[in-house]
Amino acid sequence: MTAPAKISPATLAKLAKLGIRHRSDLLLHLPLRYEDETELVSIADAEPGETIQVQGVITHSEVLFKPRRTLVCRLQDNGEELYLRFLNFYPSQTKLLAVDRQIRAIGEVRMGYYGLEMVHPKCRAVGDETPLQTSLTPVYPASAGLSQATLKKLIANALEVLPVSDPLPEIFRNKLNLLGFLESIKLLHNPPAEIATSCLQDRTHPAWRRIKFDELLAQQLSMRVHHRERSARIAPAMKAKGHFTDKLLKILPFALTSAQQKVLGEISFDLAKPHPMQRLLLGDVGSGKTVVAALAALQVIENGYQVALMAPTEILAEQHYLKLSDWLSPLGIVPVWLSGSLKKKDKRIAAERIASGDTLLAIGTHALFQEQISFHKLGLAIVDEQHKFGVQQRLALHAKGKIPAHDASAPSSTLPLQGGGNILQEPHQLMMSATPIPRTLAMSYYADLDVSVIDELPPGRTPIITKLVSDARRDEVFDRVRSACMTGQQAYWVCPLIEESEVLQLQNAEETYQLLTETFPELRVGLVHGRMDSAEKVRVMGEFKAGLLQLLVATTVIEVGVDVPNASLMVIDHAERMGLAQLHQLRGRVGRGAAHSLCILLYQKPLSEVARTRLKVIFENTDGFVIAQQDLQLRGPGELLGARQSGVAMLRFADIDADEDLLIHARVVADELLRDYPDVARAYLRRWMADKHDYLHV
Ligand code: ADP
Ligand code: MG
Repeated sequence: MTAPAKISPATLAKLAKLGIRHRSDLLLHLPLRYEDETELVSIADAEPGETIQVQGVITHSEVLFKPRRTLVCRLQDNGEELYLRFLNFYPSQTKLLAVDRQIRAIGEVRMGYYGLEMVHPKCRAVGDETPLQTSLTPVYPASAGLSQATLKKLIANALEVLPVSDPLPEIFRNKLNLLGFLESIKLLHNPPAEIATSCLQDRTHPAWRRIKFDELLAQQLSMRVHHRERSARIAPAMKAKGHFTDKLLKILPFALTSAQQKVLGEISFDLAKPHPMQRLLLGDVGSGKTVVAALAALQVIENGYQVALMAPTEILAEQHYLKLSDWLSPLGIVPVWLSGSLKKKDKRIAAERIASGDTLLAIGTHALFQEQISFHKLGLAIVDEQHKFGVQQRLALHAKGKIPAHDASAPSSTLPLQGGGNILQEPHQLMMSATPIPRTLAMSYYADLDVSVIDELPPGRTPIITKLVSDARRDEVFDRVRSACMTGQQAYWVCPLIEESEVLQLQNAEETYQLLTETFPELRVGLVHGRMDSAEKVRVMGEFKAGLLQLLVATTVIEVGVDVPNASLMVIDHAERMGLAQLHQLRGRVGRGAAHSLCILLYQKPLSEVARTRLKVIFENTDGFVIAQQDLQLRGPGELLGARQSGVAMLRFADIDADEDLLIHARVVADELLRDYPDVARAYLRRWMADKHDYLHV
């Protein structure tokens, strides 16, 4: 019997950095890649870019000091040579790589200054008869100071001493044709020689598929559990009374699309339940989410509860404030405005009206959820463009509206029959986003939310035409802008994105404004950018909306939500610098009225491969879902999810795009396990989710 290996505190600390806290975590610390030491390639056949093993004799070895201390050796095999270079090296390596030694080196071949070379290859001394390895060598994710050898030893030991069960009942294993769990991890840690390297490297081998399935299943389970916990929590039930909502529907100058009616039905149904709603409302830019939010707010207000509507930028929040004031004033509802830039006194007045319950609708930026603000009876929090907010802000919002369920001022009919003094009631949440979530993302990372989708645009829109124009033809674009504005249209000129510096961004926006004012003396030109005083921003936007300005020079502050239906031309300068989601959002600012709209993407050559792909995608597609899917492929889920996932371990093995079939199975199996095999579900969560518990409550 092997005994469990003793692990020193220093090693434990290093393991913890890799997320390994229990001995059993070692089993799931799977190789990042494999090295093939089962074959030798002669140096004559070595090609740059390939990772290979070569063998030869050291014919030269010296330490250079320029530009940095470097050990350079020449390895010769049948008259052909290859250089080995080391920047950080130990005396033991100098000794190992002495002239006349016979060496096996494995590494990636590159074309260096003197010819073919390997940088930091793995080397060992061999004799003429030293056998080759018979199986692939795993390479593990490691942290500083923890060697591959140590990891290998600890993992091998864990495999020997730990009892490893396969939690997945056989009936699922058979149905999905999955390999056993133990068999899979053993194979991945010690692949037998006869397995094709490629299916291990690209993770398509059945052993990988089994592990990826388990990972996805655990993720699905945790999302489901979280979802269920929610239905055990309490929120005020807001019955649809139709008192205000019917009135608003009568006042509106348009009828709701059937997609808007459908999502409104879903939201209204949730609000009437005594459990907190957490619903994500997805709809492409311009699909009409604001009016849906307004109607949801009214259902809550009808029940005497408060609503908070939060937007990520001041421009957007202000726009909502104006629009809702306009829509709701005939109903006698006057919203209160709150943003960070309000004067102290006005902020205090707004805070008082919110705290006393004097106002039932508060609209603003994230200032609404700062500590000083407390709501009297918050029933619904609406977050527009939720992808722009981080986890922290969502948490703050979550904590904000909790009130004791026996609060005397709460209508008693809304309380479920539950005793106990400290039951907290929490507000419903409606999150809105125009950044469509690709199907696989929605099924995995967002699976804890309910999702409603507006899948049609209001009628009467004419499709936007997109043109790609090289910077060399800038003058033609100027002519285009001039003639459009002279015939009564309005246009946006979006300044190039300068990510690395806000100062440069600002400078550039001001210069562009100068230039365009000079270019178009006959036009009224305005400027709006992120560093502007917010009252100023709002004033400029107001002038543009009222048609007083014909051309608006803007930074990407107009990316989210801005709604000026008469604007039908947009020029995006240096479009090659922008991401797909951003381009789609920006373009969505035009095409909101009946006029034919045009979006000109000005780009500067030479284009990088990615930039070229992005421009092609945005040129060929207008459907936000298709664009998001392409974006996912270009960037991977990590960046797409942004703040929501920061600090949270992503899927380690599965790739939601490539492994969509496994994800679909995992969803079905998760439901069946929770229903018929709760112990198995618990075993999965323990094995895979032990450290991610906090995330589950976000
Ligand atoms: P988004 O979903 O991008 O937030 P908005 O709510 O700003 O879209 O709506 C875009 C424009 O469409 C607004 O001017 C809005 O008043 C208008 N709109 C919304 N719903 C309809 C509808 N059913 N019919 C016609 N116009 C509509
Ligand atoms: Mg919007």
